[in-house]
Amino acid sequence: MPKSEPILIVGGGLGGLTTALALARRGRAARVLEGAAEFGAIGYGIQFGPNVFHVFEHLGLMDQALAVADSPVAVLMLDALDGKELVRIATGASFRARFRYPYIVVHRIDLHNVLLDAARQSASIELVADAMVSGFEDRGEAVAVTTADGRTFSGAALVAADGFRSLFRQKLIGDGEPRQTGYVALRTIVPMAELQVKLPRDCVALWAGPGMHVVQYPLRHGTLFNIVAVFRTSTHAERGDVNSYRAELERTYRNAHPAMRELIAMMDLRWRRSVGDRDPVRHWHRGRIVLLGDAAHAPLQSLAQGAGMAIEDGLCLAEAIHAAGDDYPIAFARFEAARLLRTARVQLESRALWNFYHCDGIERDVRNATVAGWDEAHMFDCLAWLYDGAPFPGEIGR
Ligand SMILES: Cc1cc2nc3c(=O)[nH]c(=O)nc-3n(C[C@H](O)[C@H](O)[C@H](O)COP(=O)(O)OP(=O)(O)OC[C@H]3O[C@@H](n4cnc5c(N)ncnc54)[C@H](O)[C@@H]3O)c2cc1C
Repeated sequence: MPKSEPILIVGGGLGGLTTALALARRGRAARVLEGAAEFGAIGYGIQFGPNVFHVFEHLGLMDQALAVADSPVAVLMLDALDGKELVRIATGASFRARFRYPYIVVHRIDLHNVLLDAARQSASIELVADAMVSGFEDRGEAVAVTTADGRTFSGAALVAADGFRSLFRQKLIGDGEPRQTGYVALRTIVPMAELQVKLPRDCVALWAGPGMHVVQYPLRHGTLFNIVAVFRTSTHAERGDVNSYRAELERTYRNAHPAMRELIAMMDLRWRRSVGDRDPVRHWHRGRIVLLGDAAHAPLQSLAQGAGMAIEDGLCLAEAIHAAGDDYPIAFARFEAARLLRTARVQLESRALWNFYHCDGIERDVRNATVAGWDEAHMFDCLAWLYDGAPFPGEIGR
């Protein structure tokens, strides 16, 4: 197999595109196969800690990412029942001084477009939309895939960045359906000008309540407002109609703080998904095929780090391939070793945080009393393992 044969990347999400850009930076050709009719069509807000900027800086995309993002002044945790501020992580000057890079919120499409524009400018990256991969074969010296419409693509190796319901995970690991939490998530974006309710608009705020939470933050330089509502329901696996969803929301949030109820009244009920994650596993590769991002280690969204981990993976994997001189099994084993504990910790801490957000009764009282003693220095120390970024094999280190 000539070295010029591209590496196939299945999935053009944030993980897949970052991998393509990081490979191109090392002179390796990549062909990205995306199943959707266009790249990056899913659009809601997304949060990123400073750890992703270690990657964006290496890819020369810092300014482009910052230009489309908002930097909130703080990340808050509020009690969903009485509205009290429980935790404040200041994300201004002291945060920048400690973690070097900012905390950002961004419209997912806008960040996707930053990566896509860079990919389109690279002669080493081929982007193929409408290419839903349905089968594959590892031929030892190469990998071939077929798409649902009967096309065939081959490459030197294959990176499966095909997300939460990964076909490749099913074939390589075979651990069945994702673990369900019994919760659902709804997402909405409204114009900031239409927001009547009094609440912090320049922060990320998480309203934490028994069996429910809401996350809110500004987007597109304060012109839009992103709302995510998450709650436990016995109907999490079912599809209902808008009327049944509305009645369920009103029941679930009836004891919530009035400001939170006003947010809930604004929810668009057309996008509703059950929430789940994966158990950590030790191995994500076989032969010339490797899993990356959610396909390898999907967490719950409570730490807001799933896409952050996929982006970190992309640079780490490309560096491992480069350092191993295209010996893929060695590169993939080093990639796993470099990423396993960090991504598993994100999965496990996200679960712990999930319970912390949703506790009730005495547990809630204990939580609220405990966090009352947390100051900025404590919060920064708790987050350092994550926000200080990750070591990468090869040239990149800290
Ligand atoms: C409600 C919610 C809020 C979240 N908030 C945050 C947050 O604030 N911060 C954060 O970092 N993370 C967040 N996440 C997690 C984040 O969305 C995921 O971790 C991230 O999208 C994973 O990126 P990925 O590239 O691995 O996969 P994906 O983004 O899922 O991309 C996979 C791509 O593969 C394509 N694909 C799938 N199968 C095939 C196939 N067979 N052939 C070809 N293409 C295929 C898909 O169309 C898709 O484009 C959130 C998740 C949810 C549900």
